[in-house]
Amino acid sequence: MNDLSTLRSFFARRTGDMLDLLRRLVEMESPSTDKAAVDRVMRFAAERARASGAAVTFVPQERWGDHVLARWGGNEGGFLLLCHLDTVWPVGTLAERPWQVEGDRALGPGVYDDKASAVIVLAALEGLRALSLSPRHPVTVLFNSDEEVGSPSSRALIEAEAARARVVFCIEPARPDGALKVWRKGTGRYVITALGRAAHSGADHERGINAIEELAHQILRLQAMTDYTVGITVNVGWIQGGLRANIVPNQAQIRVDVRVKTMAEWERISSAIGALQPVLPGARLIVEGELNRPPMEESPVTLEPFRRTQEIAAALGLTLTANGTGGASDANFTAAMGVPTLDGLGAIGDGAHSVDEYVLIPSLPERAALLAAMLVAW
Ligand SMILES: [Zn+2]
Repeated sequence: MNDLSTLRSFFARRTGDMLDLLRRLVEMESPSTDKAAVDRVMRFAAERARASGAAVTFVPQERWGDHVLARWGGNEGGFLLLCHLDTVWPVGTLAERPWQVEGDRALGPGVYDDKASAVIVLAALEGLRALSLSPRHPVTVLFNSDEEVGSPSSRALIEAEAARARVVFCIEPARPDGALKVWRKGTGRYVITALGRAAHSGADHERGINAIEELAHQILRLQAMTDYTVGITVNVGWIQGGLRANIVPNQAQIRVDVRVKTMAEWERISSAIGALQPVLPGARLIVEGELNRPPMEESPVTLEPFRRTQEIAAALGLTLTANGTGGASDANFTAAMGVPTLDGLGAIGDGAHSVDEYVLIPSLPERAALLAAMLVAW
């Protein structure tokens, strides 16, 4: 572990370079839904990876941005690093909320989720090369383009790479206390449609079947399925229905987000939602939904890599804690496969998906040193 003790000061001296790289990435806006914009930042990251010795492959996509696989060494039995380059912010956000440094904070759209992670990954690999240190096992970095929309086109790729990997490091943001993530809730998504019968609200009110009224009953049932004691939340987050106030509406629709901590809870809640029955005579309900990301349950799959990481961090003089979150990430996929997975290795900060998003600048070199040490000492 002798080499490791110098890593922190080595990366601390590179803070300015890391900040420059972060600024370049933030200033390349890349909302998931804008393929051309995401492709641009993908090409940039690919070039940086290639310059530090990676073999780079693009995985072309029609609808979403192309994914990038950067490999240092072979593709069997190595480290898989996951890092997404898409953001939730539309092009133009930067004009309203430009890149900024305030004291020890860096601000800008996507700075924390997840552009700082790309900086940490690239800096760690570039740093090891500069120090003539080699990762103990082959390294694959998957930069994906569609994480913020549920990874529809990268999921299969993530799972195929994870199946060959020794361990997965998901480089997603850490909260203000820096805790790593050893559990994440799974996410279910539903679209529920009520169908009734239209009628004139004055002349024929009694002949109508009000689809909005039907959904009102269902919404209360759904919301009541929330149980904080076991970590289940059900959120009716979107609603639409009807045409005008003087027509009994024959159609209404809601979108529902469901979060669960365990697969057992998912089985229970999904069968309860699937069993919803209409309340109004003559109304119909169409329930469509699926588990988007399975829960990452707190288990040896996540706790063992955490313990290993804690030991390596201790050699750097860093104390690490672990926690969990209701938000899902691509780590949910790999942990559900039983592949050792550790998440939350990105920068420390707060405010993901909000206008207050920021990164603590000193965490950039610190996390790069940690990742570099993990790749060398694992
Ligand atoms: Zn993210």
